[in-house]
Amino acid sequence: MAGPLVALSAIMAPSIQFLGAAGTVTGSKFLFRTETQKILVDCGLFQGVKELRLQNWEKLPIEASAIDAVILTHAHLDHTGYLPLLVRNGFKGKIYCTAPTRELSKIILNDSAHIQEEDAEYANRLGFSKHSPAMPLYTTSDVAHTLKLFISVAGDKWVKIAKDVKFRLSPSGHILGSAFVELNHSGMRVVFSGDLGRKKPLMLNPPTRLTTADYLVIESTYGDRVHSPESPMNVLKRVINETVARKGHLIIPSFAVGRVQDVLYLISKLKRQKLIPNIPVYLDSPMGIHATEVLLDYPEWHKLGAKEIEAFCQDAIMVRSYQDSNGLARARKSTIVVAGSGMLTGGRVLHHLETRLSDSRNTILLVGFQAAGTRGRLLRDGIPELKMYGKYVPVKARIEELSSLSAHADQSEIIEWLRGFRSAPKTTFIVHGEPQAADALRVRIRDSLNWFAEVPAHLEVKELNLKTQDE
Ligand SMILES: [Zn+2]
Repeated sequence: MAGPLVALSAIMAPSIQFLGAAGTVTGSKFLFRTETQKILVDCGLFQGVKELRLQNWEKLPIEASAIDAVILTHAHLDHTGYLPLLVRNGFKGKIYCTAPTRELSKIILNDSAHIQEEDAEYANRLGFSKHSPAMPLYTTSDVAHTLKLFISVAGDKWVKIAKDVKFRLSPSGHILGSAFVELNHSGMRVVFSGDLGRKKPLMLNPPTRLTTADYLVIESTYGDRVHSPESPMNVLKRVINETVARKGHLIIPSFAVGRVQDVLYLISKLKRQKLIPNIPVYLDSPMGIHATEVLLDYPEWHKLGAKEIEAFCQDAIMVRSYQDSNGLARARKSTIVVAGSGMLTGGRVLHHLETRLSDSRNTILLVGFQAAGTRGRLLRDGIPELKMYGKYVPVKARIEELSSLSAHADQSEIIEWLRGFRSAPKTTFIVHGEPQAADALRVRIRDSLNWFAEVPAHLEVKELNLKTQDE
């Protein structure tokens, strides 16, 4: 009799399965299973090199229809971008998140579907896809179905979603509406960090200090690095003044949600303090414009007053149409153009680069993480010619980097946040980092905190011990 009973109890132990962001930074998907519930924390898209993007087409090890609910940490595509496919494949549960995450997800998912549709259409027109016809991963109509399942919940309040499972979202300081997810299952506390913000974010409130976790899943994007201490405002001031002195243009490729707003805010401050000349600043990103407007709707989720937001929006010219965007690329007098995408994988920034990259008076300022295989990474690594629109453009413009303007905690900031926990979790699982960054963080956690931490592999299942620390 002992055999079957042991097997039965093994099946019933709660567990986490790592369906993405294990050994890599993108594709965040963590499946939390109890005896009765299957809850997915985040549902992100894999991004970056082709080998990773192909994983988006692979079948999940669980039927979408068997998942009871999804809880989101924040709106970025690598945390939400798989949702429309999950819904198309039969998921019918609720998608819980904060109110700003719901608003921003609407913008990000629709943009993602448009890009998928355009890419498939382009491949079919030129006939270069191996699949005939090439299909988008999902469409805008899949996104419309997905958005109907979203439920926004208040921050810092426990929400019961099953007889023995409740969750709480509290601000994590990464982007507008970003939150930690705390799950409580029969007294056992499991914490998911999502993306952990800086100790002192530019616009947002600092990350909430959490104190209790039986198990912790922590990100490690910068797990092996410490951000430069130089002030982003000083770097921007220097780069802008040097570019204007050369009578050049400054192009800032930027992520539409988070980074665009930080950059515009700093430029506006520099202008108002007369630390830079009063040259025109353009925001050439419809998604960036939309995301900036969302800031105004959620004053409780950031530190800026309505007047400050209005001020930095007034200091930038919003470029909505393609015609205006094209005209801007031909402007003669010095301009600053902030445009997507942040890693130069597509978007309007490309036609600005096409005209500006070959002129040594101009500057391209990279302001975020540049994944391997992207044009942003190639420029950062000093490539002499960059391929775009099927031709090579010589790189004569100056390439500069503003690494101190990151939305992710660095190694020291992660450790400092972990010190807020009253006692060590039974296990700390390290995710959302390249292998080297994740392992460096594991060693630092062991050496500085004396905690047990491990880096789970893709698709690995980890059983959780239901006995809590208090017992
Ligand atoms: Zn993020």
